[in-house]
Amino acid sequence: MKRLLQILTLLCSLGLTQTALAATDYPVDAPVGGESFGHSVTSIGDGIYVFRWWVYRNFFIVTDDGVIATDPMNPKAAKLLKAEITKITDKPIRYVIYSHNHHDHIGGGVMLDGEGVEFIGHENVAKELGDHPNPTIPLPDITFADTYTVELGGRTVELEYFGPNHGESLVVMRLPEEQIIFVVDIVTPRRVAFRMMPDFWPDEWVRSLKEIEATDYDYVITGHGPEFEPAIELAAVVTEQREYIEDLMAAVKSAMDAGTHSPDELQQTVKLPKYEHWRAYDAWLPMNIERIWAYYHMGW
Ligand SMILES: [Zn+2]
Repeated sequence: MKRLLQILTLLCSLGLTQTALAATDYPVDAPVGGESFGHSVTSIGDGIYVFRWWVYRNFFIVTDDGVIATDPMNPKAAKLLKAEITKITDKPIRYVIYSHNHHDHIGGGVMLDGEGVEFIGHENVAKELGDHPNPTIPLPDITFADTYTVELGGRTVELEYFGPNHGESLVVMRLPEEQIIFVVDIVTPRRVAFRMMPDFWPDEWVRSLKEIEATDYDYVITGHGPEFEPAIELAAVVTEQREYIEDLMAAVKSAMDAGTHSPDELQQTVKLPKYEHWRAYDAWLPMNIERIWAYYHMGW
C-alpha cells in the first residue's frame, strides 16, 4: 500500500493521475447478508459481486463483454448463482475460474458450462480431476503453472500459484487495479482452522501466507464466511490467519517439547486464549491441535 501511495503521489505531482488507480472504499463493515442456510448476492462496487451460499463464497465481475465467474461450489449453488447473474446482466458468462481442486468449491461447474464458456484452473486441478473425474466438474480448458492473466471487457484478474499449502492447486485471484485478492480456504477471517485441517500442510500454509502478505493488496474476499460476516475484508485478515497457525504450531510444539506426547492430552491442555472469541474455537481447536500433533509426530 505504501508503494501504491508513493506511486500515486508521484503521478499526482506529474499530473498523470489514472482513474484506474483511484482507491475505492469497499464496504468492509457491511455483512454479506441473507439467511444462514440460504444464499445472497452483495454488490461491493465496480461491477464486482460476492455470492454466498451457506458458508461458501465466490465473486463475479460483470464487464461490458461478459461475466468472469469463480468457484461454482455445487450444482444447487451454481444454479442459484447463474440465476442471480441473469438478474444483473444479459451478458454471457465467459470464464469460470477454479480456486483449487476440492469438489466442495468447484463441484457445480457443469451448471455454468455452455457455448463460449472457458474454465480456468491450475495445471494440478486438471491432473487431479483427470485422475479422479467427476461428472459435474468440467476439466479446465485453460491451465497454467505459475501465473495467468484473465482479461475481459477492460477488467483484469491475475491468477497466482504459491505452491502447495491446501492441496497442490490453490490459486489466489487478484484484481490488481482494485487492490483486491480472493483467497479460498487458506484465509477465513476470525475463525480457527477447519476441523482436522484436511489437505492442509501447516508449514507450507504459513510460507504461502507470508508470500501473499508480501504482495500488493488492500482488500480480501474469502471463500468462507457466514451471513453475518462482511463480504469483503481489509488486508490484515491474511496476517491474522498466519499468526493463528504460527501460534497454534508453537503452542503444540512447546507442549510436546515439555513432555506431553499424547494427542488426547494435548487436546485437553493446549489453549490459545488470544483466539477465544474466534468462531469454532471450542469445537475445532482440539481438532486443530491433533492435526499439528500429527505434523510434528509423523512429519505429515
Ligand atoms: Zn479446499
